[in-house]
Amino acid sequence: MSPEAPNKPSLLLIERCRVVAVMDDAGTELEHADILVEGPAIKAVGKGLREAMQLPADIPTIDGRGHVALPGFVNVHHHFWQCLTRTFPRVQHAELFDWLVQQYKVWESLDTEELKVGARVAMCELLLTGCTTTSDHHYLFPTKQPVELIDGDIAVARELGIRFQPTRGSMTLGERDGGLPPMTLIEDDERVLADYERLIATYHDTSPYAMTRISLAPCAPFNVTARLFQETVEVARRHGVKIHTHLAETDDEDTYCAERFGKRPFDFVADQGWEGSDVWFAHCVKINSAEIERFARGGIGVAHCPSANARLGSGIAPVPEMLRAGVAVGLGVDGSASNDSGDLLGEARLAFLMHRARWGADSITPRDCLWMLTRGGAAVLGNDNIGKLTVGAAADVVLFDVEQFAYAGGPSVDPLAGLIMCGTSHHVAWSIINGKVVVERGRVVGVAERSLVHRANQISTRLAEYGLKQHGLNYRDHVRWPRKA
Ligand SMILES: [Zn+2]
Repeated sequence: MSPEAPNKPSLLLIERCRVVAVMDDAGTELEHADILVEGPAIKAVGKGLREAMQLPADIPTIDGRGHVALPGFVNVHHHFWQCLTRTFPRVQHAELFDWLVQQYKVWESLDTEELKVGARVAMCELLLTGCTTTSDHHYLFPTKQPVELIDGDIAVARELGIRFQPTRGSMTLGERDGGLPPMTLIEDDERVLADYERLIATYHDTSPYAMTRISLAPCAPFNVTARLFQETVEVARRHGVKIHTHLAETDDEDTYCAERFGKRPFDFVADQGWEGSDVWFAHCVKINSAEIERFARGGIGVAHCPSANARLGSGIAPVPEMLRAGVAVGLGVDGSASNDSGDLLGEARLAFLMHRARWGADSITPRDCLWMLTRGGAAVLGNDNIGKLTVGAAADVVLFDVEQFAYAGGPSVDPLAGLIMCGTSHHVAWSIINGKVVVERGRVVGVAERSLVHRANQISTRLAEYGLKQHGLNYRDHVRWPRKA
């Protein structure tokens, strides 16, 4: 790529892509086509743009030959710091509630710098697997740390150039009061409400190509007070921001809500005002058909996280039924301690396979999965300027090299389907966000991968040692090999 000329509107031509998936309402797919980017927006998409638009000879250019180009993917549920406790043996075999109680015991010791390392690792992994817009459900506020933890995530996102919609999470119902988390991770409702106002005033940007938008997200019915659910709706609707929480993830949650509230999880949050097009829920594994109809009617979005649901043994969300009913569904990698990956394209492939295994070969298509990655995610986050490569949309473009072993034999016929059906190599070659190149030839621009990974591993080791020292949790004791005959 040649350097950009100073003091001119920045132009970038992505030329002769094998296929451009526009992801417009008509499902346009253009073969051997170009994408012209001007500043933060898509200026044109079509064949032979260099000649047709008489572009300058020295225009910065990416050679798209052998590559599939799509709008950047949208990740609608995550917990960045969790990549610091991936594969912990103590919780490799645990279901959600046990898994959480054990993880809380080490997460309580994370500090500001360590949380930023987790965020950086998580965002780099997302960038490499096609994500250009991510949310993050940050509900971890150890009582010993300052309140400004999401500020650290935002600083990292800005440095890396990823579009970011953090959600201000919270846990305000601790084990002393019938909730799940230890008191070392419990905030009071007032502190959370004050931080909502601070974050919205400081960071929430409503302009069309905004790189930072804030949403509000009490963690779950089993660790947040009913009052905070109610107050969150009030604050969000006053400011016009979206709201998010975990919902209907496991049988244990159903039981908890039945015993504590005498209700199903959705009825509990709906009674607090959580029913409307500004709401999106993560998981919805244990949702029934009547609730799916209510989601569709009310414009409620869903973050589908198939890896985490499978890994924790929670079940399979009825996503094909949601899609048929017209519910907006996006994909989320969820926290990387319950995945244990942050591979967003991989999440789409797993969704494709999982739903076919459960509901049959015609229940979901590769293009359904690509739609969830892009337009579905954009709808869930309430951002209609991303997830498509139409003129005027945000210039968030990802290119996958399909001329490699993983795809060989597929690209000549249907390279788009190949991303989902063949894909074992999920890394992008190029990623452009808001008109800027953030992944160049498979590398995140400006990031020293090995030293970052080294620091993450140091923190992970410290956390395991902390768990042993403070709580007697010997993680290595829980490694399991097959029983011998
Ligand atoms: Zn989650």
